[in-house]
Amino acid sequence: MDMIMKKRKNIALIAHDNRKNDLLAWVKANREKLQCHNLYGTGTTSAIISKEAGLDVYGYKSGPLGGDQQIGAKISEGEIDFVLFFWDPMTSQPHDPDVKALLRISVLYDVPVAMNRSTADFLFTSEYMENEYERKIIDYKSRV
Ligand code: PGA
Repeated sequence: MDMIMKKRKNIALIAHDNRKNDLLAWVKANREKLQCHNLYGTGTTSAIISKEAGLDVYGYKSGPLGGDQQIGAKISEGEIDFVLFFWDPMTSQPHDPDVKALLRISVLYDVPVAMNRSTADFLFTSEYMENEYERKIIDYKSRV
């Protein structure tokens, strides 16, 4: 099964507390490009980006309260097709299973995920950002 990503992507922005400044700095540096897309985020991350970068970001619940799971559900429904997730490699999180679940569902649905600044830069300079792209969803039923 294919899923078409339109030119205007539905992008989720998530950062753990120690990475929020890193994500915010990247967002500010890429503000113009981000304005061409629909933005979503976990509670605190979305609030910070709205306030500090002046971008319209729809906020789900805070990550530890289920925000990562909400975003994972939207990926499975085809409503989010791109993820910027700056997770913290130095601190364990109370919602670690949710973090893992979100990464798993992103791989399953062939959603691009940037987990650090360089990956975000590479993805955002891709020609696919300004074009449609067909994600290939593996048909696992036929593999069972
Ligand atoms: P937050 O959640 O944006 O509400 O801080 C992020 C997370 O911890 O997944």
